[in-house]
Amino acid sequence: MQGYIHSLESFGTVDGPGVRYVVFFQGCPMRCQYCHNPDTWTKADGIRMETDEIIDKLERNKSFYKTGGITATGGEPLLQIDFLTELFEKAKAKGIHTCLDTSGICYDKGKKELVEKFRRLFQVTDLVMLDIKHMDEDAHRKLTGHSNASVFDFAEALEHASVPLWVRRVAVPGITNEKNELEKLGNYLKTLSNFEKLEVLPYHTMGKVKYENLGMSYPLGDTPELTKEEAKEARQIIELAMK
Ligand code: SF4
Repeated sequence: MQGYIHSLESFGTVDGPGVRYVVFFQGCPMRCQYCHNPDTWTKADGIRMETDEIIDKLERNKSFYKTGGITATGGEPLLQIDFLTELFEKAKAKGIHTCLDTSGICYDKGKKELVEKFRRLFQVTDLVMLDIKHMDEDAHRKLTGHSNASVFDFAEALEHASVPLWVRRVAVPGITNEKNELEKLGNYLKTLSNFEKLEVLPYHTMGKVKYENLGMSYPLGDTPELTKEEAKEARQIIELAMK
C-alpha cells in the first residue's frame, strides 16, 4: 500500500524510547497556531511510498533500533490509518517496537467501521504519544480549529485497548501554560490507567521561518518562547495535580 510521506529520519532520539526510525506522515487536518511543521499540512504534497520501502530502509540499520523502533509522526499519521496499520503490522512481524505520535483528532466513536480500523491499529501499536493541546473546548477550537472531544474519545479507546500512553503538552505562554489549564490536565491524566509518562515541550519559534518561506503569516506573532525553567514549573504543576 502507498502512503504520503513528508520525510524520514534515521536516528530520532526525541520521538519515543531509544533510537528510532521516524516517519513523518504528510497531511494534517489541524491548524495549531504553534505548529512548526506547516509544510506537512497538505497530504498531496507528500512523497508517495510503499510500506515495504519504508521497512526495507529501516532494516538496513536495524541494529541501531534494538532499544528503539519505528515512530509514526507528522503531520497526522491517523489521517492515513490504513497505510499506518499496514506499516505497523509489517514492523511488528519483524519484532520492531511501534510508536504513534498523534493529536488523536481523527478518531470518531460514532463511525463503526472507523472504530474497527482503530482496534486493528491498536493491536500493533506498542506506544502512543498523545499531544493534548488544550483541555478547554473553546480554547482548543481557537488554538487548533477543532473540538477536543475526539481527542478524549481516542484516549478512552486507548485505555480500553490497554495501549501504553505518553502525553505531550506544548507549553505556550499565555495559551497552554496557564496554571488552571495545567491543573486540569493533571487531574485528567490521573484518571487514565494506561498513562505512563508526561513530556512538557517548551514552545519555541523555530518554525517561524517555514511560514515566511511558505508566504504565510505566523499566527502567534511575537509570543515569547517558554524558558526551560518555565517548562519545569509547568511540569511540576501538572504532577502536583496528579497526586
Ligand atoms: S497536529 Fe501537529 S502537525 Fe498538525 S497542525 Fe498541529 S502541531 Fe502541526
